[in-house]
Amino acid sequence: MRASRMSEERWNRLQRVYRRAVSAEYPNPGRKDCPGPEALRDLAERVVLREDLREDPRWKHAIQCGPCYEEYVALRDTCLVRSAGLDVTTPSLPRIKRSA
Ligand SMILES: [Zn+2]
Repeated sequence: MRASRMSEERWNRLQRVYRRAVSAEYPNPGRKDCPGPEALRDLAERVVLREDLREDPRWKHAIQCGPCYEEYVALRDTCLVRSAGLDVTTPSLPRIKRSA
């Protein structure tokens, strides 16, 4: 089932608001305690697969760190585009690692 257009737009708007709030609230210019881009990509992929990340310490960091949240959102969008048209509930599609 595909989410309806309305709820998608509403969700996007909420996300933008949240994103601004995270950046304003947690600017973290020194990138203190950041888990790194690999961790953020892993989180993004798991979000796209609808895994529960609430107990994941890296996730807890990412939603309370402006720069990490920005990176996470960009990575998640990439994952969403890549998985568009695919059934995201399919358990394990082979993952192709591309160099560079
Ligand atoms: Zn961070």
